[in-house]
This record gives sequence, C-alpha cells and structure tokens, in this order.
Amino acid sequence: MNESPEKVNTPLDPDLMYADLEKKIRAAGHSMDLGRIRAAYDMAKRAHEGQLRKDGSPYVTHCVAAADISVDLGLDEDSICAALLHDVIEDTALTHADIAHSFGSAVADIVEGVTKLTRVQYTSKEDEQMENLRKMLMAMAKDIRVILIKIADRLHNMRTMDYQTPDKQRTKSLETMEIYAPIAHRLGMQQAKWELEDLSLRYLDPAGYKEITDYLNSRMADLEGFMSSVDEKIQTRLESEGIQASIFSRIKHVYSIYRKMYAQKLDINGIFDLCAFRVIVDSLPDCYNVLGVIHDMFKPVPGRFKDYISTPKPNMYQSLHTTVIGSEGIPFEVQIRTWEMHHTAEYGIAAHWKYKMDGGGSAVREGDEEKFAWVRHLLEDQQESDAQDFFHDLKIDMFADEVFVFSPKGDVINLPAGATPIDFAYNIHSDVGNHMVGAKVNGRIVTFDYALQNGDIVEIRTSKSAPGPSRDWLNIVKSGSARTKIKQWYKKERREENILRGMEMLEDELRHNDLDLDDMQDEAIMAPVLKRLSYATADDMYAAIGYGGVTAVRVANRMRDEQKALLAEKKSVLDKVSAAAERREERARKEGKAVHGILVEGLDNCLVKFSRCCTPVPGDEIIGFITRGQGVSIHRKDCQNYRRRKADDASEGRWIKVTWASQITDSYVTTITIAAKDRSGLVMDIATVLNSLNAKVRNLSARDNSGLALVVITLEVQGSAELRQIMNKLAAVPSVTEVSRNGTRG
Ligand code: MN
Repeated sequence: MNESPEKVNTPLDPDLMYADLEKKIRAAGHSMDLGRIRAAYDMAKRAHEGQLRKDGSPYVTHCVAAADISVDLGLDEDSICAALLHDVIEDTALTHADIAHSFGSAVADIVEGVTKLTRVQYTSKEDEQMENLRKMLMAMAKDIRVILIKIADRLHNMRTMDYQTPDKQRTKSLETMEIYAPIAHRLGMQQAKWELEDLSLRYLDPAGYKEITDYLNSRMADLEGFMSSVDEKIQTRLESEGIQASIFSRIKHVYSIYRKMYAQKLDINGIFDLCAFRVIVDSLPDCYNVLGVIHDMFKPVPGRFKDYISTPKPNMYQSLHTTVIGSEGIPFEVQIRTWEMHHTAEYGIAAHWKYKMDGGGSAVREGDEEKFAWVRHLLEDQQESDAQDFFHDLKIDMFADEVFVFSPKGDVINLPAGATPIDFAYNIHSDVGNHMVGAKVNGRIVTFDYALQNGDIVEIRTSKSAPGPSRDWLNIVKSGSARTKIKQWYKKERREENILRGMEMLEDELRHNDLDLDDMQDEAIMAPVLKRLSYATADDMYAAIGYGGVTAVRVANRMRDEQKALLAEKKSVLDKVSAAAERREERARKEGKAVHGILVEGLDNCLVKFSRCCTPVPGDEIIGFITRGQGVSIHRKDCQNYRRRKADDASEGRWIKVTWASQITDSYVTTITIAAKDRSGLVMDIATVLNSLNAKVRNLSARDNSGLALVVITLEVQGSAELRQIMNKLAAVPSVTEVSRNGTRG
C-alpha cells in the first residue's frame, strides 16, 4: 500500500518498542502496574493482528508510540492502557464492554471518547466554525485525558505522515493546524503545539518550510556561535550577581518564523530574532532580578516587554518576555520563568498531574481566568485525594452550558445545553423552524424534545404544508432566539386566531373583576388604553394578548382604571349642569318674578301655568285652556293634547286665545327628546354641546331601547329661536337621528 515505492524501510518491531516503553516508565519512577499495561499491549496487539501501517510496520507500533508520547506527557496508568488500546474500538472487533471487562470502565470510557473524536468529520471552515469545532471536541471528550491521548495519537500520525498520499497529508495537516495545534496551545502544551505546527507546515507549504529550514541550516554555525556567546555572557553576569539560573537557547520553531514572515511581509533575511533564550530560576523574585540584569546588559526593544507572571495567559502560561539587541546588533528574545512555570508552559495541564505525582507543588495561581477555574478547583481537591482519584474527576466542564452539533453539511452549530431539534431548526433559519415536521439525529428519528448531545448530526425534516410551530414548543426550546422566532410567527401568521384568543383571554380576565368587555368598547375607555399600551387598533391589542406579547391582566387592569376615571368624569359633568340650573331657579324665586309674559284675552293677572305635555316657549303659537280652579294652562297649538281635545264637547268654550307679551324677560322650561343610535360617548358628546351653548339644563336622562338611545333633556330657554339653535346643534351630534320637542307626537 506504500504510495512512495522509493521509500524503503525496515518494518518496526512492536515488542522492541514496547520494551523501550516499559524502560521509560520505570525510569520515570512512576509506581505503575506494568503487568496491567502489558496486558493492554497484548490485547491491542492481538486485536490489530494482521493490520499494517503505511510504512509496512504492524499497526500496533502506532499504539505503542502513542502510549510512549503519553508517558512523556506524564499521563497516568489508565491513560497509558487507553493509549495502547485507542484504536481497537474503531478498527477491530473489540468493544467497550471487552475493554471494560479487562481494564475497567475508566479505560474503556477513554478509548470510546477517543473513538468519538476520531469519527468527527472534518472539513475546513471559516474561523468561527473552527473555534466551535474545537470547543465541540473538547466538550465531547468530557475527560481531558481523551484529548491528551488524541493529541499524542495525532502527533505520532504527523511524524509518520510521509507514508500517506499527498491528499491525505494535506487534509490531516490542515486539520492539525486548525484544530489540534490550537487545542494543544489552549491546554498550555507548547512543545506539542510547536511540533504539530511545524509538521503541518511541512505538508501545507513544502516550499516555504524548506526555505526556512534551508536558511536556518545554512546559518546554523553562525547562530550557534552567537547563541553560545550570549549564553556565556549572561551566565557569567548572573553568577557574579549570585543568581542561580539555567540558561537554554534555541532557534525559534519554523512555523513561528513563517508566520512572522507573512505577517510582516518580510523575506527570511528580514527576520532577525531567530534565536530565543530561556532563563529558568528557582524563585519568583529572581525572575525580576534576571530581567533587571538582562536589560542592563543589552538594549531592550521598546514595546516588547510582557509580564505574563503578574497577568498569566488564559492557558495559565506564566513568564517574563523581553526582546533585546545583542552586541552585533542582532535582536533576540529572552523568556524568564521559574521551574514551576516552565513545567506548566511545556506540558500544560498534563504538567500539573506530573508535578503533583512527583511531589511538586501546584503551579496554578489564584486569579486565573474563569474558564480554567475547573482546573484550579480540581487541583485544590487533589490535595485531599490521591492521584488516581484525581484523574477520575478530571472532567472537562468548561463548556457545560453549551452543546455543539453538526448540520448535515458539517457546519458546527453552537446551542445552549439541553437544546432540542427545534432550537437547532430555528438556529438555521426561521423558515426551517416554522416548517419543521420532524427531526433525525445521527440518522434516527427523534422526538421534538430530544436533548441534543455533543457531536450529534442533526437533520430537520420540513414540509411546505407544515402547520407551523405549536405553542408547546415555547416550553420545550432552550434558546431565547428560538422562543422569539416562534412568538414572531404567532404574531404574524395567526392574526385572526390570536385576536379571538386574545379577546377570550381578556373576557375571562375581566370577568374575574366583574367587568364586561362590551362596556370597555366605549371609545372613551378604549382610546386611552390603546394609546397607553401603544397599539394602533383594538384588534392589534387582542392579537398581542393572543400571542403573548402582553398579558390579559395588564390590559384588564388598564381598562378598569380608565372606566373608573370615565365614570367619575361623567358624574362631575352632570353634577355641574344640574347645579347650575338649581342656582338659576333659586335666583328667580328670590327675585319674585312670576312665570309670566302671557296675555290672556280679556283677562288680566289671571293665574297662568304652562302645560307639561308640550312645554311652550316664547315664539311658539299658543292657546290657553281654562282649568277648574288652577287658572289658564298654556299649550302649543301643535300640541297633540290640544289637537285631540279642541273638538270634544267637554272642553267646548274652554279654549281661549292667548298671546306672548312683547317684552319677555323670563326664561321658560321646556323638554326635548333626542333619538340616536346608541354608541359609546353619546351622552358625553351631548353634554359637551349643551355646555358649549351655555344651555340651562335642568335635567338630562338617557335610556337605551334595543340599540336606540333616547335622551330626554329639560332646559330653560328664552324662546323658540334659542331652542331651535340648540336642537339643530344637537341634531348634528354623530349618530343622532332625530331631535324633537315633547308633546308633538304620540
Ligand atoms: Mn491512532
């Protein structure tokens, strides 16, 4: 299967490699059960029997190599067993149960975790997608050891990538560059990160990689000479200052030079600080002492000093960084840190375990970023428990409130933990959510309330004739945006339904308060309610109640308040009108004026009263009727009583001619009736007209007769001209059908 026949190599012997691994474990001084680790090796070897790597070696050599890197990372016994077995679930007949049976569920869980990560489909995406994919992998891993073994696995695969096809080299390198190197960086594993980056670059831009390595090789002698002279200068000076320090120098890794060339648009000759020095000391104060010495010896480049000791990086990295210019004008970088910080920088999280197991102190400082609080927490816990227990607790919970799933196209969608397929659908697009009729997760149909798991591939089935979201969905969804979109749908698509539903809800609510929605239709109530709640129409408001934009309680309370205010206002208008009339009558009585102005033919000073049936006023044609003992009663000539009775025998001779006096000083009481289509605000409008005409109203009463309102008004006027004017104005009030004087019709 070797794609490059010119590459000939001797197949590796897994047993020899395994013997070296055992030696390494023993040398590290760990108290591990080597029998158990060997059993894991034997199981892996049997399971992968007959499988070969591209280089022709038995497949299990890859497993041993991954375990070897895991030992370098300082991982525990379970992890080393899991590293040896990391490909058996994916590539052989063995199952989780088989591993659990022989090595316990912890090892089996780790292997299964690595398998899940291996199965995640990778396609290159824009940055945000990449970040989500990285988070998804971290979240899927659950146990940090899964990630670390996956990194060990990837590191070995990258080291042996020469044997793969160019296509696979490219894909794997891209994936490594975009996913695994950043994860290694996030976990603070600088060594692994650099190696992953350099190996990836070698396949992604072979020419660029070669240019830099060729250049470095050609200048190696120079650079090494420069480095050793600087090394010696610093060493001598520190000794004279009494500071104990170890100095390391290195040429920067290829990818960091490459990135700098691109970022600063320089060619390789323009990159000066190819060398980096690291001064490692025993104590934190010494770090700052060393910094002072370095800045005294060499000229610092302005703006390049960084104090990551007082402000550690999110991945807990701590160091002082500075760039200075050497005697030959060559700039170089110096990093200053303690041994403890150094372990954290080189091995990241893994260093903490190793450190603890070696009896070193915890390197985690207070004030680290919140997302690494879990590490700190675990390290605190660790002090009471032994290392083995500690590993069991080392779960990744930094993304506990998020879940990462795939769309069928491979996009990573980030949702709140517990999110359902409905949340997913609305995240894709409102239309997808609104037309959703079903969902599949990893190819299987699930219910709408299924809680999505990290790494799930979610597929939404839609239909043009979908009924739209159900109201129950509002209780199922976890994301605010899905909830908003569902509400929006109800707002738009179901207006008629919402109006009816809203009216029902409001009626219910009003009924609880002994109120009736019909009474609230009064313009004087509805208009201020709508204005106050910012709705253009009553239907808009009912619809809003229907879809949940406003509560029925809020609207009902507002209506109740407006109704109270209106009733109070009406009462005060009528009170004022009748109080004014009373005052005028009072005055008339005091002044002793008789109700007069009538000339009765042939009689002076006779008792005169105005009939109640037709209430004549000056200007009306009138006639008198001689009553028995109560003087002359005055009627209008068009009064129906007069018309009916003028011809009957009993009243023969009792009708008498009367006329109005030429000077009228009194006012006269008369009654009119207004007929109108009943509507809200009618009485208010009538009262307003009367007020505006300064009409002297004595009484006003209204009654409703199946939609027809009859308003009877008793008022004082000077004469028929004034009365006509009032009646004309009243006739113009909207919905008034007729204004008539009393007594004219039967
Ligand atoms: Mn592997």
